[in-house]
Order: sequence, then structure tokens, then C-alpha cells
Amino acid sequence: MFKKILIANRGEIACRVASTAKRMGIRTVAVYSDADAQALHVGACDEALHIGGSAPKDSYLRWDRIIEAAKATGAQAIHPGYGFLSENEEFAQACADAGLVFIGPPPSAIQAMGLKAESKQLMEKAGVPLVPGYHGSNQDKVLLAAEAERIGYPVLIKASAGGGGKGMRAVDKAADFDAALASCKREAINSFGDDAVLVEKYVQRPRHIEIQVFGDTHGNYVYLFERDCSVQRRHQKVLEEAPAPGLTEAMRRQMGGAAVAAARAVKYVGAGTVEFIVEQREGGEMNFFFMEMNTRLQVEHPVTEAITGLDLVEWQLLVAFGEPLPLKQEELKINGHAIEARICAETPDNNFLPATGRLYVARWPRHVAFRRNADGEPFHDAAPVRIDAGFGEGDAISPYYDSMIAKLIVHGSTREQALARLDEALAQTHIVGVATNVQFLRYVVRSPSFEKANLDTALIPREQAVLFNQEPLGLPLAAAAAVAQALLHEKAEEAADPFSRRDGWRSHGLNVRPFQFEFGGEPARAELTYLHDGALTLTVGNVSGALSFKPTAQGIDIDYAGQRFVATVYATGEHDHVFSARGATQILAIDLLAHAGEGEVDTGRLTAPMPGKVVSFAVQAGDKVTKGQALAVMEAMKMEHTIAAPADGVVAELMYGPGDQVAEGAELLKLMI
Ligand code: ADP
Ligand code: ADP
Ligand code: MG
Repeated sequence: MFKKILIANRGEIACRVASTAKRMGIRTVAVYSDADAQALHVGACDEALHIGGSAPKDSYLRWDRIIEAAKATGAQAIHPGYGFLSENEEFAQACADAGLVFIGPPPSAIQAMGLKAESKQLMEKAGVPLVPGYHGSNQDKVLLAAEAERIGYPVLIKASAGGGGKGMRAVDKAADFDAALASCKREAINSFGDDAVLVEKYVQRPRHIEIQVFGDTHGNYVYLFERDCSVQRRHQKVLEEAPAPGLTEAMRRQMGGAAVAAARAVKYVGAGTVEFIVEQREGGEMNFFFMEMNTRLQVEHPVTEAITGLDLVEWQLLVAFGEPLPLKQEELKINGHAIEARICAETPDNNFLPATGRLYVARWPRHVAFRRNADGEPFHDAAPVRIDAGFGEGDAISPYYDSMIAKLIVHGSTREQALARLDEALAQTHIVGVATNVQFLRYVVRSPSFEKANLDTALIPREQAVLFNQEPLGLPLAAAAAVAQALLHEKAEEAADPFSRRDGWRSHGLNVRPFQFEFGGEPARAELTYLHDGALTLTVGNVSGALSFKPTAQGIDIDYAGQRFVATVYATGEHDHVFSARGATQILAIDLLAHAGEGEVDTGRLTAPMPGKVVSFAVQAGDKVTKGQALAVMEAMKMEHTIAAPADGVVAELMYGPGDQVAEGAELLKLMI
């Protein structure tokens, strides 16, 4: 086996690869950028080399430096993780030329699957079912429109070089085709440097079901079953599970066979994923069509590990070293059900805008780390909860890379059990300092569609009424938690310094203490009454009741107005971040003195929510705009964000031009309101 490998990636995937290498006795080399000098993956490896600036093009995409680093440290092979250089055939070739093993498929297989249009032509020859569509090389506008007409609306225009959910436009009717084509091509040239597109039928009630395949250098192929990744936002995966609910054994075999045929057609070696779009017809009939092949380890590979009891990174290393696949198709079995949730720094209620910041608190659920049994056998009794995190407490989520903080993977003997475990594990995930989708994920998990496995890619929009702008705890319970936290904090301070007593006044008998809060943007008042016997009564709005609480190992055990719950409260300045099994929320305890004299409102400055690039302006100086109208499009953290007018007004001045890089908080345009 290899003695030393270099991991050309960062975040959770670099840590995850390092942990398998460590278990196999392989030494590891990390590479890192300026922004990642303190990152978790640096400490997870035996050695680490700085390779450049924070932007990916200055570090994680600098394959010359990465190859140099491998040579300088005596690494024999390079694991590319996902993203970055993982699907770059030139890099794979450069590794080979430098005498290094690229832990992935041969360059020819990456190239064959690199462009969606070309790979579809190949798959057609290999007999793999395709979505009806046009994937030829003629890019004439009139021809593409005629093809769309032939396919029948709705259609999907896709950048052939696209990936990561970008470069796609759904078109409902012929009248919209030209505009959608132009905008798709613009995004494609900007993001991928190639504006070739293909046109596909927009599949109805589509499910995304993908097959994990593996090949070795001896011509053996297996499939490690499927993952259902239908729950998506902006064509990006949110929850992934295995096996796919409702998939018949016959269809599983058919899809597995088609995926192996796809891999065989390009002489694939190593781990790969064949993505299919599945059409669900009235009456339960399902048809599957090839979408693309990802020639790398996939983000969601842990759900496959959980149901098969295998370590896919170990298989990648074995295959890269020239060993045959450890198991044959008939030796592979599905055990139970697994679900992965991607925990991202983002604001679901604000169109999933990515967020940056420092993780003031990052507490994960109790979990059993990814492992094998005492004899080194793969576990079939998989760990029920696994966390693959790329960040720890105190780490910063920077704007340079994508917004995924960690992955939470649960396993259960049934889907129902896995779902319950996921909800519980999400409740125990406490992140403070940067906005996350954790509470949103709990809403998705508990939504009727997800619970009943009524899956398709429109699940999130369909369930939006129960997913967005929800308040899980409510003002009375949040206020009770904040009051309990404040009193416990005072008690701790008193214990440390008896002269700091603030409740001396209370010994005069029955006393009422006012609290002022801000909750959900609204001010709120509360009154705490100290009764003679030491008991407490809390009044919040029209709710009034006895309040008692005691600290426990799990958090503060609170009983208020007949409701009992355990809350963990973290205070940052005046904000109390409350986490409980019922949900997580924030409440602000206002110090009236500190806020005297404030009252400033919106000034009409429209600033960049994060560092990034200006893609385009939809308006010019002098334009009249109405509230909510799109003004500019920015690109940051691999996503496009529309900046909308906060109120009616007139555009006074554009401060930048398309293509300009802007810093966080930079004023993009002036609006007179
Ligand atoms: P998966 O199918 O494994 O879930 P994703 O589509 O989420 O993969 O992408 C995996 C990672 O690679 C993410 O970090 C994503 O942002 C990145 N990525 C995928 N495709 C591209 C691309 N074409 N260009 C840049 N980054 C990409
Ligand atoms: P990417 O390279 O960005 O991952 P894919 O071709 O894999 O692009 O498509 C991403 C997602 O877009 C799919 O998971 C699915 O939700 C949706 N999608 C793709 N093709 C179709 C189609 N023909 N009909 C309906 N939805 C589709
Ligand atoms: Mg895809």
C-alpha cells in the first residue's frame, strides 16, 4: 500500500480522507491556502504545506504547486476529494507525468464524462437510457429552438460543461426560449468558459436517483446501490438517502446494470457516480434516464457507506494501488436506511443566501465516529450518527469556498427510525456565530412530503408553507429560556463575587422585575415576579405562569406555564441563542441604557452582502424602481444572488461595473428612496 499520500482539498472531505488513511497506516500531507492556515484539515494530516493565496485559483487549483508539494514531501499519490481538481483530466495527466498516482479514474474517463453533451452521445452508444433531448454540436439558435419544439415544452437548457447546479434554465414555452438560452449561455461562459448547451425534456415530478459504481484496473465493476438526492434547492442537494424509497428490486438491478455499462463504456477505474433523473408517472410507473456521471467521490458517499458497511475511501486507495475490488456484486448487501443532511452556512429564509462568520459555538450531537469493529472488519451495524465536519469551534467560514460546514449522517434499521434520529441529531447540533440551515433541515425532515417519502425535486417549493419563516419555539418559551439563563448567570456571578448581588431589593418581599426583549424583530416585555416562598411567576404578553428551572448536563430543564423543555442557551452580547428539541431560536435581551439615542433607519445604500463579483446590473442611473425589483446580480460562494430594491425609489448611481470584484459591505449602487 501507499506509504504517504497528499490530499489536494480542504474542509470535511480532506479530514475524512485523512481519517481513513490514518486507519490504514498511510501518512498524509495537507495543502492549505492563506485563509486556511488554521483550518481543521491542516491539523488532521501528518504534514502540511502552504500553497498560496485564499482564492482557489491561487491555491487549491494551482496544480503545479500541488504536484511540487507531493514531490517535496515524498507523497506517492494524490487524493483530489471533490470539487477543485477532482474532475480535471489535465491534472490527472500531470500527476501521471510526474510519476504520481492520481486517486481517481484515468484522464480519458474524466474527459469522456466531462461534457454533458459528449457523454450523452457515448451513453447512447452504450445503450444507457437518455432523457429525450438534443445534445449535438450545432449551436445555432434557430436549430436549438426547433429542437426544443420537437422535444416538447417544458424543456431544460443545460450548459454542457456545467456542474454544481449552475448553468441550467427551465423553459415553459417557446416565447421564453431565446431569452433563457441567452442567459444560460452567459452564465456558462462566465462560470465554465464554454457556452455550449444541450436541450432536454423537463422531466415531470423528477426524482434524482444516482448509482455509486466502482471499477478496478482488472476490469471488474460493481455498483453499490443507489442514493436518492431529490430534495434540492437551486438544483443543489440538501438531503440524501439510501436506499431510495419505493425503488423496486427489479429497477435497482436495471439502474445498477445501466450504471455499470456507463462505467465500462469509458473504462472507468475507482469511485464514480452515475446520476439518473427518474420520471414518476401516474399509476406509479417510473422511468430512469442518464443525466451525467461524476468522476469522483461524491459529497453524499457516507450514506452508501452506512448501508453497505464499507469505507469507500479505503476502496479508492486499494484500487489506485492496483488491487482488485474487495467484493463482488453478489457479496454486496443493503443494511437498513441512511440519510445525510448538509449543514451549510446560509439563510434559508433569505433565498439561501450564503453566510460567513466565525463559529462561536459548534457543538455536534453525541455520535459514534466512523469506525470498524475490533477485528478491523467493516461495520454492518453502522454507527447511527456520524459527523463529517470541516470546521470546529472558533473557525471562520470564509467567503472563498463553498458554504458547507459539515455533514450529518444517520443510520437506522428503517427509514422511519433514521428520520427520527436525524431530527434528534439536528436538534443537538448547536451552531452560533454564523447563520445555518439546521432548523430549516428539521422542518424539511418533518414535512409531510419528506415523512411520507413523497419525493421529487419540487419538494421544497411544494412544502414552502411549513419550511420558511417559521418560529419553532414562540416568544413565551424563548423568553422563559432567556430569563432562566440570565438568572443562572447572575447566580454564578454572585457565587464568584458576593458583592455583585443584584437582587438585594428582592428581600423586601414580593417583587416584580421587568425584562425587555426583541423577538422576531418585534419588541416584547416580560415581568418576573418573585413570590415570598421563592417561587417565580413569569408574564410574557398574555401568557402568565409559574417558572422553575434547573441546570442539568443536557441544558436548562425549564418548566413554564405548564410546558416543560430542556434548553441550551448561548449568549453573544445581548443575543440569546436558544436550542431545544422543539427547535432553535434567537431572542434579544435589550439593555435600554445602551440603546438610548439610537433610531437610525435605512439610508438607501445597497451593499454587497458578502465579497464577490458583480455579474450584472438590471438598472441604470435615473431608473425608477419599485420595491422588490431586481437591481443587480452578484456571484459569491459559487452562487448567484439577486440584490433587490428594499423600497420604491430612483437609482442615483451605479458604483461598479459587471465583472468587478467587490468587498463585503461595498456600496453597489445608490438608491434615492
Ligand atoms: P455532489 O454531486 O457530490 O453532491 P456537488 O454538485 O454538490 O456534488 O458538488 C460537489 C462539490 O464540488 C461542491 O463543493 C461544489 O460546489 C463543487 N462543484 C461541483 N461542480 C463544480 C464545478 N463545475 N465548478 C466548481 N465547483 C464545482
Ligand atoms: P449538475 O452538473 O449541475 O449536477 P445535473 O445535470 O446533474 O447538473 O442536474 C442537476 C439537477 O437538475 C438534477 O439533480 C435535477 O434536480 C435537475 N435536472 C436535471 N436534468 C433534469 C431534467 N431533464 N428534468 C428535470 N430536472 C432535471
Ligand atoms: Mg449532477
